[in-house]
Amino acid sequence: MSYVFFDLEWNQGYPHTPEERLDEIIQIGACRLDSWEGEGEPFSAYVRPSIHKNLHHRVKKILPLNQKELRRAEPFRKVIRDFFRWCGPNPTFFTWGDCDARVLDMNLCWYGLEEYLDVEIYDLQRAYDLCIAHTDQQAALKDAVEHFGLEDELEYHDAGNDAFYTARIGAEMVRRLSVLPTEDELRRGEERFRQEKQRKAQEQSIAALSEVLERSEPFHTRSLGPCPSAGDVLKSRSARIFPCPECGTGLCSGNWYRVGEYFVARGRCPDHGRCCSCLSLREGEGGVTGELRIYDEAAFPHEVFQRCKRGGECIVVGKTPRKRRHRRAKART
Ligand SMILES: [Zn+2]
Repeated sequence: MSYVFFDLEWNQGYPHTPEERLDEIIQIGACRLDSWEGEGEPFSAYVRPSIHKNLHHRVKKILPLNQKELRRAEPFRKVIRDFFRWCGPNPTFFTWGDCDARVLDMNLCWYGLEEYLDVEIYDLQRAYDLCIAHTDQQAALKDAVEHFGLEDELEYHDAGNDAFYTARIGAEMVRRLSVLPTEDELRRGEERFRQEKQRKAQEQSIAALSEVLERSEPFHTRSLGPCPSAGDVLKSRSARIFPCPECGTGLCSGNWYRVGEYFVARGRCPDHGRCCSCLSLREGEGGVTGELRIYDEAAFPHEVFQRCKRGGECIVVGKTPRKRRHRRAKART
């Protein structure tokens, strides 16, 4: 049983056509651990480009390698076979992030090497984000190296060096966690994290909205209904059309966001900026009635609306936007 940490560097074309979008591997680097305490065995090989002959300017800028060296390298089929042979029997594969796995599959398919497509690859970055950094932001390799205070004398963006760093991080994580989370545990952990984040955003939106309601005066208020249901009030014209505080032009608010017991939406006057509406509903014998308050942007700041949007539950009004249908139709042709 061995642990193979690998990293790829790839070149890209200038995508004028879909075929140009193939990311071509130009370096494979790896570090193999035969035990978590081991020093690690290095592997690094360049791959002679056969699809994009010249280095993309962005690749040239990032990667510490030269074109001459690349042209002398072996072709992909030879290098990848050497690599998998070097890995030994039944290795567990690790990468930092999920890009390398995608690019590897792409290249394997391009060269018809489907026999290697079955390898399982563990995304160490995902485990790091969840268990060490406690965030849903994807941590850079360098940040993880620094976080653990690991030696970082090697240059980054060299596949061999990056693989070495990934192996060091993996070993450090095993030292701290004793065992890496399984795919299932990662999925559950990420779901818990997402829910917790949503709950916090919800709390913050309720707090921010209450502050506005206590502190600010609406420039316009109106009573709505009674309507047969809450949905009817939310959809009604009298809930969505209101005058601009400056010019009196009729404005229309967009989707509602349910924040605690309130519903918040926003409209915009092209000349005088945004206004927020806040609606509260009450169920009575005759149906559902509403109390609508309209605030200008000074009274209901942009940041508060953004918070309501993040933490609130979106209630879509009107038809689904045409933009999306249009895009999908376009992609098919
Ligand atoms: Zn106006």
